[in-house]
Amino acid sequence: MATRLLRLRGLLRAAGSRSFSAQPSPLQTEQHGTKRLEPSSAKTLIDIGTRRIFSSDHDIFRESARKFFQEEVLPFHAEWEKDGQVSRELWEKAGQQGLLGVAIAEKHGGIGADILSSAIVWEEQMYVNCTGPGFSLHSDIVMPYIANYGTEEQIKHFIPQMVTGKCIGAIAMTEPGAGSDLQGIRTYAKKDGSDWILNGSKVFITNGWMSDVVIVVAVTDREARSPAHGISLFLVENGMKGFIKGRKLQKIGLKAQDTAELFFEDVRLPASALLGKENKGFYYLMAELPQERLLIADMALAGCEFMFEETRNYVKQRKAFGKTIAHLQTVQHKLAEIKTQICVARAFMDNCLQLHADKRLDSATASMAKYWCSDLQNSIATQCVQMHGGWGYMWEYPIAKAFVDARVQPIYGGTNEIMKELIARDIVSDK
Ligand SMILES: Cc1cc2nc3c(=O)[nH]c(=O)nc-3n(C[C@H](O)[C@H](O)[C@H](O)COP(=O)(O)OP(=O)(O)OC[C@H]3O[C@@H](n4cnc5c(N)ncnc54)[C@H](O)[C@@H]3O)c2cc1C
Repeated sequence: MATRLLRLRGLLRAAGSRSFSAQPSPLQTEQHGTKRLEPSSAKTLIDIGTRRIFSSDHDIFRESARKFFQEEVLPFHAEWEKDGQVSRELWEKAGQQGLLGVAIAEKHGGIGADILSSAIVWEEQMYVNCTGPGFSLHSDIVMPYIANYGTEEQIKHFIPQMVTGKCIGAIAMTEPGAGSDLQGIRTYAKKDGSDWILNGSKVFITNGWMSDVVIVVAVTDREARSPAHGISLFLVENGMKGFIKGRKLQKIGLKAQDTAELFFEDVRLPASALLGKENKGFYYLMAELPQERLLIADMALAGCEFMFEETRNYVKQRKAFGKTIAHLQTVQHKLAEIKTQICVARAFMDNCLQLHADKRLDSATASMAKYWCSDLQNSIATQCVQMHGGWGYMWEYPIAKAFVDARVQPIYGGTNEIMKELIARDIVSDK
């Protein structure tokens, strides 16, 4: 812990951040010996120094992450939207700043902080409304598979490079014919001596175009008693013969995020490319997916907080009928409803984050957070665009981008219908 904090402080000094002090208020709670504001009584929903789950060390880290996203991401994002990807330089800058692999243990070459520090990075990205960099997928979805199931050699080979941003990670589960029904995948890895020969294709792969290493989910036993018992994970590296990157896909949102098709044509993989045990891939996916859902949920809610503040500022300056539209009671009630919905969701979300930090978050609870927060994000996006009037429909207004970017959240990471299946399974189970 002490090492971690020293390291975070070191990172912060490097970033040249200023110190922060929270404003006192009647509604404060004790945590780590300091009084912290509840979001509902803070000046804004994105204030630093609020929320019981965080400590003053987290605040310092948040300051440095906020500075990074404001200075290194926001000014360049419009250009990256045109390119359909961010720059490689950005990844390396994020690595230098200590923002990649934050929650990966130091013994594995990661930064060695907690998952709450990772949450700070993905929340701060949402607070600048820039969805281009696929940092959270790289750091908090891909890297944990390698750290948790990789051999010592795999960990040594990939993790330190991924922390520096020199090696970008992706995970390829979805296929043109199989998304929700993951057991229906057809990508097949056939044993050939101690090697494997991989054939198949994947679609909608985040970081797919820029990726240096992809965790590929493939069938390894077609005769298994159920498909789940015959699936394995492989580490496929850029440049391997037969590994072909297809198009960067044209999406309605997430314009600066490189989402790609991937093709595998007789790719020869050495035995050392197998991640974890043969035929155990489906179990690993089931174990890691709750963190992916938690991350999407928290990013969705951070998106809501951004949209609320953006809209609050807008209605306070936009005039109609001689006064600002913030004077209209309909607008005030709408903002009151939205703020209440966000604060209620934030209480549940922070509870989930804390449960996950304590390794107590179950799959159904993570699914509740993902479905609820991503649906809320879309509802709030619609209402915030409405309060912006015609300007809300213009691309140059951040709320327009937030609106289109929100749409995918109930779809990926398991659709919200699948989330309800997982929640319902627990409800009706007799076990
Ligand atoms: C921008 C973007 C990025 C993505 N990134 C990645 C990535 O990095 N890696 C990756 O592997 N995948 C990625 N995906 C894929 C994503 O996870 C899938 O799109 C998602 O799981 C849904 O699968 P599908 O598209 O095949 O839809 P389908 O499974 O065909 O579903 C179609 C509809 O049927 C519903 N449905 C299906 N089964 C059921 C059921 N049993 N009960 C009720 N309703 C059901 C679904 O909820 C949905 O509404 C990404 C997708 C997008 C759009």
